[in-house]
Amino acid sequence: MDLDALIAGVKDGDRRALSRAITLVESGRADHRAQATALLDAVKDPDRQALRIGLSGTPGVGKSTFIERFGLMLTGQGKRVAVLAVDPSSTRSGGSILGDKTRMEQLSRDANAFIRPSPSQTELGGVARRTREVIALCEAAGFDVVIVETVGVGQSETIVAQMTDIFTLLLAPAGGDELQGVKRGIMEIADLVLVNKADGELKAQANRTCADYAGALRLLRKRDGDPEGFPKALTVSAMDGTGIETAGSEIQELARYRKETGHWDRTRAAQNRHWFNDAVRQGILRHLTRDAATRDQMDDLGAQVAEGGVAPSAAAKQVLDRLFPPGE
Ligand code: GDP
Repeated sequence: MDLDALIAGVKDGDRRALSRAITLVESGRADHRAQATALLDAVKDPDRQALRIGLSGTPGVGKSTFIERFGLMLTGQGKRVAVLAVDPSSTRSGGSILGDKTRMEQLSRDANAFIRPSPSQTELGGVARRTREVIALCEAAGFDVVIVETVGVGQSETIVAQMTDIFTLLLAPAGGDELQGVKRGIMEIADLVLVNKADGELKAQANRTCADYAGALRLLRKRDGDPEGFPKALTVSAMDGTGIETAGSEIQELARYRKETGHWDRTRAAQNRHWFNDAVRQGILRHLTRDAATRDQMDDLGAQVAEGGVAPSAAAKQVLDRLFPPGE
């Protein structure tokens, strides 16, 4: 592979080069990993920053309809938009809820949009790394906005929130008690709660749901560096387009404010540090699980722990003492 040509292609914003670069960072092969690392280091450019938007919501809430509508609005404003998916289900089943080709049909044909579905069968720890690296590639390729979509399952929102600038939660109109169904943790990381399907018969219900969420968000402490009124709840209709422009301008306003106060740079710096620490930790774990002596010792002690012959902490100490002899 001609790495220099690939680097130049990505920097030029060439879509085929970008696709090939993404395939490279997704590969698990050791030689590919070395090339991917060199590529990522060569294309990085502090002057190229995209607005990274995380979007989470359960299946059926209207994520793809929303992204299609929102993405077309952005490309209509002359912006280049990339859409990526973090799909925790694909790591287990090999099947993906997000990112199949029939979704976002119009946006996928737009020359200023780039849609990359979640790869199947990525190892669990690899999902975060892969997504972070693909964001970096899209940014290096000059995209103005990168949307990272995820289904509200497990840890995926937290992972996405840690690699995006603004986190949005898409919800459907709900009956009275369902507010409690949304985990508090998600409410705490959301900058914007969008109640979708505010159209037709669902409109009144959407307005009520939105008011409920606005009330719940007011109870959360305003975050340092955010303007008054955030986090905010709004109603939208991805189907008829109502509220989409407002959602866009609220996101722009929040981004502008955070840049002005320095909050934006501080958050990105903290995120970089987080992912650096994470990469070192993952690397150590990978080395250890590949080390035959460690694996054998852990299998052996694991069996003893299971039978109750050794206490878990004592067994762990044996492994750690062998790896890192005390007193050294
Ligand atoms: P996803 O699974 O979150 O990506 O949801 P989809 O975008 O595939 O939408 C799920 C269903 O909800 C589809 O039948 C959409 O047509 C419908 N839908 C999406 N947005 C709206 C909306 O704003 N209003 C209404 N009434 N239906 C919507």
